[in-house]
Amino acid sequence: MSLSAPWLQTQLESLLQQRGHAWLLAGPSGLGQFELALALARAWLCEAPTAQGACGTCGSCHAVDVHTHADLAVLMPEQMALEFGWPLDEKTQDELDSKKRKPSKEIKVDAARNVVSFTQFTRSRGTTKVVLVFPAERMNGITANTLLKTLEEPPGEVRFILATEAARQLLPTIRSRCLSHGMAWPNFNDALAWLQAASLAGQGSDKKPLKAATPAELKTLLDAAGGRPADALAWVLNGQAAARAQGWQALPKAMARGDVSALGDFQPSEAVEALQKLCHDVWAIKVGGQPRFFDPADLPKGAPQPSALALTTWTRELLASARTAEHPFNAGLMLESLTSRAKAALNPQQPI
Ligand SMILES: [Zn+2]
Repeated sequence: MSLSAPWLQTQLESLLQQRGHAWLLAGPSGLGQFELALALARAWLCEAPTAQGACGTCGSCHAVDVHTHADLAVLMPEQMALEFGWPLDEKTQDELDSKKRKPSKEIKVDAARNVVSFTQFTRSRGTTKVVLVFPAERMNGITANTLLKTLEEPPGEVRFILATEAARQLLPTIRSRCLSHGMAWPNFNDALAWLQAASLAGQGSDKKPLKAATPAELKTLLDAAGGRPADALAWVLNGQAAARAQGWQALPKAMARGDVSALGDFQPSEAVEALQKLCHDVWAIKVGGQPRFFDPADLPKGAPQPSALALTTWTRELLASARTAEHPFNAGLMLESLTSRAKAALNPQQPI
């Protein structure tokens, strides 16, 4: 997400007016906390910053853009660093190149130690050094404690930005050392306009231009992502916009029929999340509210509506499934079981 997103630009300008050597940017996924964190780091390091942020043209900005700034340390899981093209230290890169081990999904304690020593070296470019940690909840207790002392008493002009999608999973000692900023939610129309521009500018993962998604597809994807634009954009950039949008529209009725093929493209964890959204919307309609994730026209119609008991049972089953969905015993069987549970919940005449 670039800072062409107006809701991120507003937050950046507000953060730049405030003092504080350590910020915690917190909110659910898809709101752009990494992009905002990086824009803040870029502005702090810039040689000619303005109230709107970094200048974008100086040597420092260029070094941030090509991921080689000597005064910026980005602390993230190895797997994510490889995916986003952020450099790893030489030893780690050698180990991964020689396939001695798989890239870690956690932030490793060695990486945190490297960051601590980074903060103690002489600065090489300007007067400020910045440590960016994302997603901060991927630090385990040991890693977080390694960072804690430096966070409490940073040497010289060291500034921290921690960005998280799960602030409650952070150690309280880490949270209490930072000023907290809750990520703002964009309104739906701003998010849709941004998604449209970003999808036109985007390239697919194979670098070929993407087939443009239609406005209706983008709206469905943004609904499906619960209004979180970066999550919706990820589907567009995978080249899955049309298929995902059609699949999303067909999902509620397919589940009411017990058609497991509607979950065919989903990982078990994604299937559970999609069904939780469906369950939410069916509840919302039952109590006279508005659905949030699906178009009302796509939801199963007809009386009688599912009973509160059926929906409560289904909610509980989905929560239990969420706990095993990352490592299912058998993915195919799990999707079958999720589908038959959904069918039972959505068809009140049938025995639960
Ligand atoms: Zn600059």
